[in-house]
Amino acid sequence: MITGIEMKHKSLSQQNNWQQLLAQAIRDPKALIEYLELPKKPFYDAYQANKNHQLLAPLGYLDKIKKGCWDDPLLKQILPVEDEVVDVKGYVSDPVGDLNASLTSGVLQKYHGRALIITTGTCAVHCRYCFRKEYPYSEIKPAINDWKQVIETINNDPSLHEVILSGGDPFILSDQRLASLCQQLAAIPHINTIRFHSRIPVVLPQRIDTNFLDWFSALPIKKVVVIHANHANEIDTLVGDKLCLLSDTGATVLNQSVLLKGVNDNVETLENLSQKLFHYQTLPYYLHLLDKVKGTAHFDIQQQQAVILMEQLRNRLPGYLVPKLVREISGKRSKSPIV
Ligand SMILES: *Cc1c(COP(=O)(O)O)cnc(C)c1O
Ligand code: SF4
Repeated sequence: MITGIEMKHKSLSQQNNWQQLLAQAIRDPKALIEYLELPKKPFYDAYQANKNHQLLAPLGYLDKIKKGCWDDPLLKQILPVEDEVVDVKGYVSDPVGDLNASLTSGVLQKYHGRALIITTGTCAVHCRYCFRKEYPYSEIKPAINDWKQVIETINNDPSLHEVILSGGDPFILSDQRLASLCQQLAAIPHINTIRFHSRIPVVLPQRIDTNFLDWFSALPIKKVVVIHANHANEIDTLVGDKLCLLSDTGATVLNQSVLLKGVNDNVETLENLSQKLFHYQTLPYYLHLLDKVKGTAHFDIQQQQAVILMEQLRNRLPGYLVPKLVREISGKRSKSPIV
């Protein structure tokens, strides 16, 4: 039986307008449960968790989830669950100290030579484990409305050599706005690299369209794209093709993951992910231990277990396919390696 929503999706997936695809994303738990034909579960209440961090998932992402399966590793990343509203000691609002690292509105600096711009508070998906889930975007305004002050701040600090565009997700900005920001950054003499941290190549690959690739390839500066995939199932051929296109622009393409219980906390899953990434010209960079954000305790993996997993992974893969296991510790001069 073909449902109305499937019909709509069939016609949508044939087009490439990413903004339209984003507008069609599912935002209501009930619609999600219907779309994925999930069997009824007693006492399941998505709405309480949904209030804090609203469900958001593009249909293309949902199509990589096995129908009828509550345990799917992709579903777990996007489905609001009751565990999120349980208060667990030690899980707080700003575990990584971002609120103290602000240079100017929308610009953070924690590490030598690198500044990070919160370009927007918006993403193409809402990840349940997100460390920015509790981030007060309205207090530290994303830089979206005023590049001028951001450019000035970076221009005035010759100790900076790399600018990291983060968010939210920087690729959610229009080509015009993003290209304009990047061109201004590229023109600053002491900046030699622009890095993009984005989950969009994975969750809304249609966004990497010819328009984007045109201006992106033409940027006269070194580019690094750090995508965010946690499981090999997230990388289908469309995502893979886009990763290759990004890499063909001359960008260095890397992946960071978060180690998540029930999603990727076993060696086969991590091995498959690394191999799939490499198949599409992308290297694993970081594997993060979960930031202890309120409402994410059910995803957390003990450090000792993570260390064992890494040892198993090293025994199976060439060194260049083994991500670095790190944790972000507030106040440190870099991410902290865990060995
Ligand atoms: C993670 C992070 C970076 C980048 O760190 P790398 O180790 O260079 O990947 C830069 N600035 C901030 C604020 C960060 O949180
Ligand atoms: S895409 Fe990144 S910033 Fe956005 S919700 Fe997911 S983890 Fe958080």
